[in-house]
Amino acid sequence: MRNGETNVQSWQGKSIRVSVLYSRAGVAQHIWIESESGSILIDAGDGLLRDLVSNRLAPNQIRGIIFTHGHFDHVGGLHSLLGFFRMKGREELLPIYAPKECKEVFSIVNNFIRCYPDTIPFKISCRGVQAQQVFQIADMMIKAYPVVHFGSINGSGILNQIPAMGYRISHKGETIAISGDTGICPSLKELVKGADLAVLEATYQKSAKVSKELLEKVHLSEDLAQEIGKSAKDFILVHKGKRE
Ligand SMILES: [Zn+2]
Repeated sequence: MRNGETNVQSWQGKSIRVSVLYSRAGVAQHIWIESESGSILIDAGDGLLRDLVSNRLAPNQIRGIIFTHGHFDHVGGLHSLLGFFRMKGREELLPIYAPKECKEVFSIVNNFIRCYPDTIPFKISCRGVQAQQVFQIADMMIKAYPVVHFGSINGSGILNQIPAMGYRISHKGETIAISGDTGICPSLKELVKGADLAVLEATYQKSAKVSKELLEKVHLSEDLAQEIGKSAKDFILVHKGKRE
């Protein structure tokens, strides 16, 4: 690893390149997806700007941002990125997509606009995504698959279900599936099946070490993610949690 570079998981297809800039459960996640028409960012965790700069990626290449859900490790870097675009004088419209009723993303954006009502040189279009919705950023087609994800707090157990999506991103016949955070659910299997690459969360090390309820409602384990990943042509595991 050269000085200043982070340990990035990458995958190069014929027309899409995927770089998992950082993904660790409970810390941060941001995934950079690039085609010749520009880049999409999936999630914007804490440290996003640092990771873009360390990997010599130009934030201005970002044509849109898509959020899987509103947990802090997926949205913590959004305010910084918006501030960076404002400082750099971005003029291009910035589309931001998040699951409908994802209060965290929409309130970060609204707060940013409220702070600087007259000095943001670019427009932000914030859209709530519904199940099975299809939309386009640059030349990439995106389809939303609702996944099952509940919050959890150590000592307080499993909290309420939150709006969460996985996404299938296609460009020139190539398809990438991004699970986001999810428990095992039928929609996840549908999302992953036949994709050229599946990027799957694997927060828990082993299914045997956690309850069935956590695996159904909160996160996948490595063994479950691997089993699901086999229905895609290739897969990588991300968002690992603490390992002994
Ligand atoms: Zn989460």
